[in-house]
Amino acid sequence: EAAYAIAEFSRHPERNAGGPEVLQYRPDHVVALPGEQEVLIRNEFCGMNYVDTYFRNGLYPSPKPEVLGREGAGIIVTLGSGVTICSDLAVGDRVAWLGTGGYAQYTAVPVAKLIKLPARVSFQDAAASLLGGLTVLTLTEEAYHVRPGDWALVHAAAGSVGGMLVQVLKSLGAQVVATAGGPEKVAIVNNLGADHVIDYRDDKGPRWPKQVRAITAGAGVDVVYDSVGLDTWEGSLDVVKRKGTIVWFGNASGPVPPLSLQRLSAECVKVARPLLGGYIATRQEFEYYCTKLFGLLTQGKLELRVHKVYDLEGVQQAHKDIERRDTAGKLLIKIDH
Ligand code: NDP
Repeated sequence: EAAYAIAEFSRHPERNAGGPEVLQYRPDHVVALPGEQEVLIRNEFCGMNYVDTYFRNGLYPSPKPEVLGREGAGIIVTLGSGVTICSDLAVGDRVAWLGTGGYAQYTAVPVAKLIKLPARVSFQDAAASLLGGLTVLTLTEEAYHVRPGDWALVHAAAGSVGGMLVQVLKSLGAQVVATAGGPEKVAIVNNLGADHVIDYRDDKGPRWPKQVRAITAGAGVDVVYDSVGLDTWEGSLDVVKRKGTIVWFGNASGPVPPLSLQRLSAECVKVARPLLGGYIATRQEFEYYCTKLFGLLTQGKLELRVHKVYDLEGVQQAHKDIERRDTAGKLLIKIDH
């Protein structure tokens, strides 16, 4: 049991949801042992995702106190009872997982969302790409099926998900217009291969929709991938083409206001509001997209930009950094043992 004593971040039990200050380093926390269809992972890396801030601040409800962190990579150290879904799993396997409780040395995770890592995929790359990479693959195949020649607009394209989205869109033959905040981020997105990059920071006008219209010769784009939400929503509705699709998949600036469906009718616009969990609900769906993602990684077709690697004690800072819009690329937590 002592071997499983862990260090982790969790909410202060007496406080409710709130800012980064509700996160607390808890070296005394005791890990739950794996239950039915679960295994215990000794984490090497945990991915920090923007969605972690929604669970922290209460935008997405979850039981409190809570160990945040929804993806990780490491080694199986204990098999729970009745592991039948992936019966070939063994202690010592290198794996990546989606679940909860990732900001920790050890996490008990359901095997349904756990995948063995190919030898050539490192723990770091797995934790940097699993949640975001699967999201990007589902957004481009299911939320809107991208075809060669399509015009796509990607907001926050210097972010972790945004950067992968630009690369996957280009590999599918789309013409990519991207937004990013500030000249440094614009340069990063240009290097990822976006065709046009617009700096939308301090754009109170906002001017960026006019720029998107100009780039597309007035027509607008076939698909908008909007993870910024509140600040970009009106512009996204403005620049989508007749018969186009807006995929609203994140709330970096806050959720979008209520939308009258009537507003979509004149131009026959579609709006999708996907969550990754809805696209990879079955084992088959999860394995299908993981195979695609690992293919891209092992063939060197997906560049993973890491903004910074934090340790567990730096998690509060990681939350502050991502919410300040100071980051470009993935925030990772390296787990020391
Ligand atoms: P990012 O690395 O993209 O960080 C968020 C970025 O959003 C910032 O860097 C910033 O870029 C931009 N942003 C715009 N407005 C704000 C604001 N007011 N406050 C903070 N940031 C702002 O994070 P992730 O890659 O982890 O996630 C990207 C988005 O994808 C999130 O909205 C997340 O919720 C969503 N997501 C949704 C999933 C789903 O299943 N629906 C799954 C995974 C991610 P800039 O400075 O360039 O504006």
